[in-house]
Order: sequence, then C-alpha cells, then structure tokens
Amino acid sequence: MGKVLMIGAGGVATVAAHKMAQNPEVFTELMIASRTKEKCDRLAAAVEKATGYKGIQTARVDADNVEELVALLSSYKPDMVVNLALPYQDLTIMEACLQTGCNYLDTANYEPKDEAHFEYSWQWAYRERFEKAGLTAILGCGFDPGVTSIYTAYAAKHHFKEIQYLDIVDCNAGDHHKAFATNFNPEINIREITQKGLYWEDGKWVETEPLEIHKDLTYPEIGPRDSYLLHHEEIESLVINYPSIKRARFWMTFGQQYLKHLEVIQNIGMSRIDEIEYEAPLADGTGTARVKIVPLQFLKAVLPNPQDLGENYEGQTSIGCRIRGIGNDGKEHTYYVYNNCSHRAAYEETGMQGVSYTTGVPAMIGAMMFLTGKWVKAGVHNVEEFDPDPFMEQLNTQGLPWHELHDIDLEL
Ligand code: NDP
Repeated sequence: MGKVLMIGAGGVATVAAHKMAQNPEVFTELMIASRTKEKCDRLAAAVEKATGYKGIQTARVDADNVEELVALLSSYKPDMVVNLALPYQDLTIMEACLQTGCNYLDTANYEPKDEAHFEYSWQWAYRERFEKAGLTAILGCGFDPGVTSIYTAYAAKHHFKEIQYLDIVDCNAGDHHKAFATNFNPEINIREITQKGLYWEDGKWVETEPLEIHKDLTYPEIGPRDSYLLHHEEIESLVINYPSIKRARFWMTFGQQYLKHLEVIQNIGMSRIDEIEYEAPLADGTGTARVKIVPLQFLKAVLPNPQDLGENYEGQTSIGCRIRGIGNDGKEHTYYVYNNCSHRAAYEETGMQGVSYTTGVPAMIGAMMFLTGKWVKAGVHNVEEFDPDPFMEQLNTQGLPWHELHDIDLEL
C-alpha cells in the first residue's frame, strides 16, 4: 500500500520500525536512513528477525543537508518521509520533501541548534508550499505532542461542546536504576526542561521560571507524583484550534534525584549550548589542539544512551489529558483520558523502553493514517486537525490502549 522512508535510527525510530514491520499490509516497502548507516543496518536486521518482515533497505544520509536528502528521496521515491531524527532537521527534511513531491510526518517541532527555543511558526511557514504542491505534512505525531492532541480532538468531537480547561499530564513512574539518565535524546530533553515554563490563560501566554510551579497529581495505578509545569509544544496549536480554551497547561513528573542532577548540570555550565574552546588530544597522540565543543553535546556523549535503558526499566508511564468544559448536554463536565505503558512490556516487544515506545507507536499510526487515505489533506497540519476516531481505534490495537474517566475530581 505504501512506501516509507524513515529518517533516524535511534530509540523512537527503533519502535516505529518494529511497528511498521508488524503492519506489512500497510507498510509494503521500508527504508531506514540515518547519519550512521551501520545503525540502520543493525536496526533493519533486528526488525526483520523479530517480525519476519523482508527487504528493509538502508542508506546513509546527513539530514542537515538538503541536497543529500533530495538525492535520496529522488532515487527511493517514497510516498512519505517519517522524520524520527532530531528537531534540528525538520526544516531541511520538509524542504527536500517539497523539492521531490513527498509527504511528511514528524514527532517534534523545529528547534534551531544555537537557541533553546521551539515553536511551530517555522514549520507553519511551509503551509502554502505544501498546499500548492498537494502534499500532506503531519506535525507532532508522537505521544506528547501527538496522542495528547488527538485525545483533545476526540474529547471535542464526542464529549464537549466547549473545552475550557485543558491540563496535559505526563508521568514517568519508571525506574531505570541509573543515577541520572534522560528517556530520550539527552540534548533535546535537557534543553526542553531547563527552559522557562509557559502556559495559556485568558487569551495570553504566562511565563514562569523553569520548574517554578509544581504540585502533587495522582496518576492511575501509580499514585501521587510531584508534577512540574513546563512549556510544551502542543499547547501552541491546541489553543488556536480550540479557541474556547481558557487555560491550557502541561505537567511532567520529575523525581528529586533527577532534579538534583539537573541543578548541578546547570550550575557547572554543562547545559550550555554555546561553543567553548577545549584543549583536545590529537588522534595520532602527537599533542593537543584547541577545538570547539558545545558542553551539552559533550554531556550527551557521557550520559547513558536512552536506548540502553530498556533492559532493567521497571514501572510505567501514564500520560493523558484532564479536561473541564461544557458537555453536549449544556452542563459542566470533567473528563480524563489516558494511557499507561509498561516499560518492561515495551522492551520485550521492541527492545526499547516506554518513552520511545509511546512515541514510536503513534508515529507509525500517523503514517498508517496517511497511507490508508484517512489523513490526507494538502498543507501543514497539527494532528488535532484530522479525524481522531480512526487513530484512537488503532491506539487500542497497536499497543497503547486508552481509558476514560468521566466527572471525576481532576485535582487541577
Ligand atoms: P535519538 O538520539 O535516539 O535518535 C536520533 C536519530 O537521529 C539517531 O539515529 C541519529 O543518528 C539521527 N540523526 C541525528 N542527526 C542526524 C542528521 N543530521 N542526519 C541524519 N540522521 C541524524 O533520539 P530519539 O529516538 O530519542 O528521538 C527522536 C525524535 O523523537 C526527536 O526529535 C525527539 O525530540 C522526538 N521525541 C518526541 C516525543 C513525543 O512524544 N512527541 C517524545 C520523545 C522524543 P546518530 O545515531 O548517528 O547520531
């Protein structure tokens, strides 16, 4: 039915590749391309062994380079590019898709390398070009953003006349038995968490100091966890697409151990993203040379690789939307829709932990929605702009079942 080029061979891509291969009637041809071809080869072999899928192709590509991307897309001719590299590559990959007539999907919005700042405007600027080319671009199709936005669309379609208060709650109650590790790319993760907080209230953005606002929230099958208000990208499009929202916030849990390490990392300058000079030994051992390094990128090189956390990861994630508003009966209602994902079950199925799993599965379903003709709309769209129903159905069968609670105390 469809030919997909997946870019990236990291944790999220590993899950997405397994899930695509489990749906061979939709994903009839698959290529995995990334900066390091050996990783693509290893991933392709692991997926074929685990699923019996045959013929995954691999390639090396530098996704920062539009010419290289255009050459690869022109020769492979995919129906869709699934971008599971890093947010830095979003624009170059979108540009290459436009030049070669290819549809596009990603899981994280564009972020310039030299500025810890993410927003959709850079990608929304491509709307007209995708529209004119008759191509579909699906933005933010992981869990958050992604499923959380689809949960909101589902609530708006089936339960509410007017959504007024939206709180997205993201809990990782897992234990990987490491002193400090991030659950996805450390550079992207630390940049996100050390930013100022931001939420939407009464038609404007309200800024907070990083991790300034927090409170205990109770998560299903987990219990209370200290949850911190963060800026998160899906809020930006949701308040535009659901203008009745009076307040929208995003909360994420962090343990004290994690926060203690994060504070030290910041205090000693290891979260800096500007270049510094460093006296590095020459490869041939003949002396040293002054080289430029970015401290946060250096830190990434010494931290545990998120892909290696899976084996001993216990516990589960719980991510959902807590919504208050006016129901279809004209009365005020509350609603909580969520998924709990076990790190161990994710690892047993794909070799990756729950955070990669909860991102890779929705990326696959988003591509499936496009390839099966359910989410085809020329232009650049956030996921809540499509029909949530077929996506919600697939969540239940592809490993991320969801649960609903009505008229409960939302704690928020
Ligand atoms: P990883 O760091 O594990 O993997 C990133 C992959 O991209 C690696 O294979 C890397 O190659 C490759 N890559 C990096 N730069 C380039 C480049 N210039 N050209 C080609 N390939 C490149 O990251 P994750 O799998 O953890 O995350 C993938 C994406 O998912 C990120 O954008 C992240 O922000 C997003 N994400 C979204 C979530 C959501 O819920 N929406 C949640 C979690 C993550 P190499 O190994 O050679 O460096």
